[in-house]
Formats: sequence, structure tokens, C-alpha cells
Amino acid sequence: MIYLKTDEEVELLREANLLVGKTLAELAKAIKPGVTTKQLDAIAETFIRDNGAIPTFYGFPNPKGEPFPASICASVNYQVVHGIPNDTPLQEGDIVSIDCGTQLNGYCGDSCYTFAVGEISESVQKLLTVTKEALYKGIEQAVVGRRLGDISYAVQSHCEAEGYGVVREFVGHGIGKKMHEEPKVPNFGKRGNGMLLKNGLCIAIEPMITMGTKEVYMQEDRWGIVTRDKKPAAHFEHSVCVRKGKADILSSFEEIEKVLREKQ
Ligand code: MG
Ligand code: MG
Repeated sequence: MIYLKTDEEVELLREANLLVGKTLAELAKAIKPGVTTKQLDAIAETFIRDNGAIPTFYGFPNPKGEPFPASICASVNYQVVHGIPNDTPLQEGDIVSIDCGTQLNGYCGDSCYTFAVGEISESVQKLLTVTKEALYKGIEQAVVGRRLGDISYAVQSHCEAEGYGVVREFVGHGIGKKMHEEPKVPNFGKRGNGMLLKNGLCIAIEPMITMGTKEVYMQEDRWGIVTRDKKPAAHFEHSVCVRKGKADILSSFEEIEKVLREKQ
């Protein structure tokens, strides 16, 4: 079942998503060598709750019904997604993808940003740059009259042109009162395929891109997903609303990137 949102619902989704952006900006301030992802999780949980929202990820069940034990997913280096925050300090040269979800006034926000810890290598920086570019290439296609496959193709072709891997097992999704609604939004596909995009369709577009193989497996904790060749992976995600002419991006990287610029 696909729910097209009214303008009023879109504004509620925007509020939830902007709070995710603000939360990630708080984390951007704290990310540096020596900080642990558990410390980042505590900052995020406090910030979300202080703003009257619920961290959607906390207690979110995996396919076995086991609850996620934290408020953010923090995936380091070759972890692609769903990393459980832990006590290992981040090190200079690491990357960490922070995926965050909020529920505010009954509507969900969902966005992810991959951060550099201190100085990172040129090749890893390029992975981050290309993955974020791919996200915006996908968003450009999220307009009335295009099809879902146009988004998927735009993401896939941009990343594969650089020789990167496009993860198949995890995909974007519809978003609304629930974090995961229909339709699925894969990061791979064919132009002109899939459902026709309509005004009010709200989806999370989230390329998960690897520097080597696209093959991934699940870690023993039954959450963390890692690349098979242990090469790094990046993950950027925006929640967007399909509009005529131009997609309406509901989440925001503006505050995150303001913090990152000030840190330089
Ligand atoms: Mg997410
Ligand atoms: Mg998502």
C-alpha cells in the first residue's frame, strides 16, 4: 500500500526530518579521533528526546524480532549499515556513517551522513564525494512523471562509472507515519522501469556504496552489515517528497555541513 501525503503531512514529515539534520549536526561537532560511537549515541538520544521526539531506531526490530539497542546506527569503515554503537574510539582516518531516525508528532524522519574522522585518504574522500553526488542525482529524478527506476538508475550509473559497488540487499523506502513504507527504492535499476512517481510520494533515497565488491554479509551481532572484502563503504540518505518539476528535500545537510566547515 502506497500512501501519498497531503501538504499538511509533508510539513510534519519535514519537521521530523529537519530534527534528524539538527541531530546529525550535533554529532558533527563531537566527531573526532578518540570519541566512541556509544558517546555519539548518547548525544543523539538526549538531543532527540529534548526536542520532544522519539529516536525511531531504538528498539526497532530486525527480521528475527530482536530490538536495535541504540538510537543511531554508527557504521565504521567497512561497515555499510546498521552498526551498533560501541566503546571503540574512532581513529584518525576512519569514516563513520551515522544513520538517524526520529518520530515527531506521529511522523518519521530518516537521514544519514558519512563523516570523516580527522584527515582521511584522498581515495576514501572520493568515495564519500561520489556517494553524496549519487544521492543528489537520484533526487533529481524524484519528480512527477518519472519512474522509480529512473532514481535507481541515476544512483547506480553514477557510482559504477567510478568502479564502486552498489549494495543490493538494502534499499531506500517510502516514509510517513512509519519509517519503512512502500515502495522499496533500490539503488540499482533500469531507466523507465517501476512505478510512476506521483505528487506527494515521500521516499528515503539512500545510496550504500562500496569501494570494492558490492557483496556484504551480516556480523555476528545480527545487525552490522560489512563488505566482504573489508573495503570502506559510504552511505548518504535524504527523505524527499516527489513534486512537479523539482523534488522537495525534507531532510537537510545544511547544518551538518556548516559545522564541518567551521571545524576546518
Ligand atoms: Mg536511515
Ligand atoms: Mg532509510
